[in-house]
Formats: sequence, structure tokens, C-alpha cells
Amino acid sequence: MNLMTKYAVVTVALVGAFTNFIACGTQLYKTSLAGDDVPPEGTTSEANSTDPTSPEFGLHAPSGWVSLPVIYRSDRTLSAVQLAALQAAMHTWEVAVGKPLFAYKGVHASVTGDTFPDLFSSLSDRVNGQYVDSDWAKTGKSKQVLATTIWTNPNNAYQLIDNADIHYNSDLYLIADALRTSPVDDREVVDMQSLATHELGHLLGLAHVSDSYDSSSIMNPSLIIGEGLATRSISVGDVKRVQKIYGCNATACDAELTARTIMQSGEHYGLSDKSKSQPAH
Ligand SMILES: [Zn+2]
Repeated sequence: MNLMTKYAVVTVALVGAFTNFIACGTQLYKTSLAGDDVPPEGTTSEANSTDPTSPEFGLHAPSGWVSLPVIYRSDRTLSAVQLAALQAAMHTWEVAVGKPLFAYKGVHASVTGDTFPDLFSSLSDRVNGQYVDSDWAKTGKSKQVLATTIWTNPNNAYQLIDNADIHYNSDLYLIADALRTSPVDDREVVDMQSLATHELGHLLGLAHVSDSYDSSSIMNPSLIIGEGLATRSISVGDVKRVQKIYGCNATACDAELTARTIMQSGEHYGLSDKSKSQPAH
């Protein structure tokens, strides 16, 4: 039994989720996501996340975090640009519900994604970490996987989350501001804010939503990557689904208005007009 399997069994309520859509130059390649969100051995129940008639549709943890805000720390190798992009993505989800969801507690001293011997062991310190991994092979994920969100459920209650980490694949990808960055050393550019918005959706309790159901959802199990390409907005459906978990305050309760506000506030995050267009799925 290897280390990853050991942790997957011991911490029975861990679920890995990821996006994988690869862009090389002007050509796009899609990788199958079959099986990417299968709960690990030992999970006794799961959300009814793929049935559109279920109240749990699009959600893997319908009750969300046990307490808010989610207190998180960052990998010491996370760049200022990456951190700003991460926090802009967090802000998007906060606008979606009209309330604070995250609280930054600074750098996780002396710790990087590479500190941990395997993917799941980063959960054992109970710090909600945002990690950059330059050795992706040890996560056990295929090299195409852009990032992985892992979490724990208290008392094996799938409805709740009490600890979570996100690992970003900087081994194979240049995770940066894709509107201002060119590929180097054969690493394709991945937009940090776009990727983080998707992964934070998982961290908050959202599951994948098929593009045939909601083609504008940031939770589609795919992401367009490459220089000059970003998907930083969320759909009306994303707003409604995150509000099913966390409720809403004031004008945020108007989901259409809220989604439009997020779309139109691109400049607030220092984005160019290019970022406002949704990629074709
Ligand atoms: Zn995903």
C-alpha cells in the first residue's frame, strides 16, 4: 500500500477533484474526466450532485463549511501575482453570496506543496493551505491535472467540510496571470484566477456541473488554458448553487444581478476586456 492509498483510506472522507483541459498553442485538447470525483474507499454516502432534480445538484457538501470565514494560509513560494489572483477569485465567491467567506492568516512558514510526501498528507496539519507543487508526480495525479482540491468531512458527514487544501500543478504549468504572461520552458500558461475560482468552488462545496447543463459555469469539468485566455466569471447558476449552501445577503440575493456585477467588475481585478468573454466549451 503506497502512502497515498494509506491516507485515502485513513482519512475516509477525502475527495480529489480536478480540471483537465489542455491547450497547446492554438489547438485545444480535451482530456476525459471520467472518475475524477469518485469518493474514496470508506465514504459511506455522498451528495446527489449530478441529478438536476435533487436539492443537492451541483453540490458535494450541501451544508458547506462548519464555520466561516475559512481561515487559510499560503505556500511561501506563492508569488505576489499568484496570491493576488487567488484573493480575487475568493472575492468573486464572496460577492456571489454577499458576505465574507475567507480570512488570510499569512504565509504557512517553511511549508510548500513539496514539503509533503504525497497529496493527502497536507491535510494532517489542519491548516487550510494553498500550495504550489513543483513535484506533481507524487500527488499520484496525471500530469494533465492543473490543480487538485482535497478536503475532510467531520465525522464522515459528506454534507460538511472542516479542512481543505488546494494544490496547484506548477511542475507542468506556468500558473500566472495569463493575460500578461507568455509560456516559458515548454510550460503552458494557466490563468491563476480562473483556475482558483474553479478550485475554490470545490473548496466551498460545489461539484462539477456539465457544460451541457450550464455552459457558463466555472464548475464545468474543463478549463480553457493558454496565453491570453481566462475564465474569471461565474454563471447565474453558480451564484444560485453557492447560495444554496451559504445563503445570501442584501442585493447578492438577486442572482442575475450578482452574476452580471461579477462579470462587469473585471477591471476591479485589473483584467483586460479579453477576460470578459466566456470560452467556447
Ligand atoms: Zn474540478
